[in-house]
Amino acid sequence: MPTYREALRQAQQQLTQADAYEQHAQLLMLELANQNLSDLYLCYDEPMPQELYDTYCQGVKRLAKQEPLQYVLGYQWFYGNKMTVTPEVLIPRYETEELVANVLVDVDAYFEGKNPVLADIGTGSGAIAISLKREEPSLQVYATDISETALKVAQKNADDLNAEVTFYRGDLLQPLIDRGIQLDILVSNPPYIPQKQTLESSVKDYEPHVALFGGNDGLYFYRRIFEDAHKVIKEHSFLAFEIGYDEKDALLALAKEYFPQDRMTVLQDLNGKDRMLFIYHNV
Ligand code: SAM
Ligand code: GLN
Repeated sequence: MPTYREALRQAQQQLTQADAYEQHAQLLMLELANQNLSDLYLCYDEPMPQELYDTYCQGVKRLAKQEPLQYVLGYQWFYGNKMTVTPEVLIPRYETEELVANVLVDVDAYFEGKNPVLADIGTGSGAIAISLKREEPSLQVYATDISETALKVAQKNADDLNAEVTFYRGDLLQPLIDRGIQLDILVSNPPYIPQKQTLESSVKDYEPHVALFGGNDGLYFYRRIFEDAHKVIKEHSFLAFEIGYDEKDALLALAKEYFPQDRMTVLQDLNGKDRMLFIYHNV
């Protein structure tokens, strides 16, 4: 058997040749060997156990084909929570943590002490809904998704992280409309990539397309959510969306059609890109 050092070097070469991230070789080794870096250095010149080596080689092969590290590891950290991710769900992004943070600010500002009802539309791994419930246990949280397999992952994450979230499968707001659920807060990171946009192959070839593409102009899901929103939002409520960096003007114009009296604002992410749209309905 090769030593840890040899296996690592081999993997790094393989990834470099494949134009994948060389650093992922070490991250995967640490994860599979269940070690931190100093432990790894201590056993660097020992042979790797056969089973570990085989699993490692399989993982490296996936990385060499540009599969995202998070799918190979099986998790992604989001808002301090370890979220299981499988190829059935979008890998939650750092920008989306900012959406969660800004929603929490507004929950405090508008609904402190009021046990507000919130829904996350298109929940995927459940990242948004679960993080919000964990940060703000007074929220009553619903989440919907069209994908049954995604909801299984979301339910597992909610169970593992002890977050009480009610999941419904269905088309956007329909599960809430059917049950007469009325919201103080509607949150969504819908698919917003225009159909024809070219994407990195690690995204296009591995992440679920149902989670990525939002029709020809990327706005399909916002349009549909805006259309139905008045059936599920309360008289005093707010809506919070993640948006594409170049969708601000089009979305503000669209939102004005459906919420003509309401105050709205677009916030930028840490990279200075327009990333979040908040609509304040009588609050
Ligand atoms: N909320 C997760 C996050 O932020 O990481 C996932 C967001 S992903 C961009 C969009 C999600 O919307 C996917 O999980 C996808 O399955 C779901 N979706 C797509 N079409 C839908 C529809 N018609 N109704 C409900 N959910 C839908
Ligand atoms: N931010 C994701 C990407 O660029 C897309 C997420 C979405 O469509 N909501 O891959």
